[in-house]
Amino acid sequence: DSFETAGLRPFVLSNVKKSGYTKPTPVQKHALPVIMAGRDLMACAQTGSGKTAAFLLPIINTLLSDPKDLVVTQQHCEPHAVIISPTRELTLQIFHEARKFSHGSIIKTVVAYGGTSAYHQALDVMKGCHILVATPGRLLDFVNRGRITFSSLRFLILDEGDRMLDMGFLPDIEQIMGHPTMVPNGERQTLMFSATFPEDVQRLAGKFLHNYLFLAV
Ligand code: AMP
Repeated sequence: DSFETAGLRPFVLSNVKKSGYTKPTPVQKHALPVIMAGRDLMACAQTGSGKTAAFLLPIINTLLSDPKDLVVTQQHCEPHAVIISPTRELTLQIFHEARKFSHGSIIKTVVAYGGTSAYHQALDVMKGCHILVATPGRLLDFVNRGRITFSSLRFLILDEGDRMLDMGFLPDIEQIMGHPTMVPNGERQTLMFSATFPEDVQRLAGKFLHNYLFLAV
């Protein structure tokens, strides 16, 4: 029932402490061990539940377990973790949390969202990154231009699944997941978070998650 017992390395624990978190929230308490064990996860959790740290901490912890794997390719982005979220606001929040929890490490995080010029984001993306936080449309745009490939992907997170479907992002998500460079279902760890679990979200989970655990908090 503490971050210490969750098996996070001291570096990550220290960044957790620096952000003022003393005790895991329920979704963190239950999701952390599942994700650390390498399982796919479908979690029903609201915004405000602490779900962002629930997926970021195990990702950062795992990426740091073998820093020599964290070579960054230039001119092109081959992220180890991709977090897809429906809005610019949420994407930026996740980006800032990822930077906070990986601060002082080799991990490089980049953000990409629509509604603004792609130029500067493309320059950032092309410097390479380990963690990419993006909205579906802008991500697909960069993928279609060959700026991002998924050959090194280890973690894929679909955040606010219900909202992404409500906003009409299913075709974009299908194209991203079906991209020729996308590593197969069982070879990456896929996590989905959603406030609600209606039929269309269940279908999405059934299609893209592999032997997943279900968690509702
Ligand atoms: P989220 O549901 O991920 O959007 O998080 C909601 C808010 O709770 C954010 O402002 C987080 O910084 C904060 N938060 C997340 N986990 C914890 C925790 N264990 N202790 C204190 N605050 C937290």
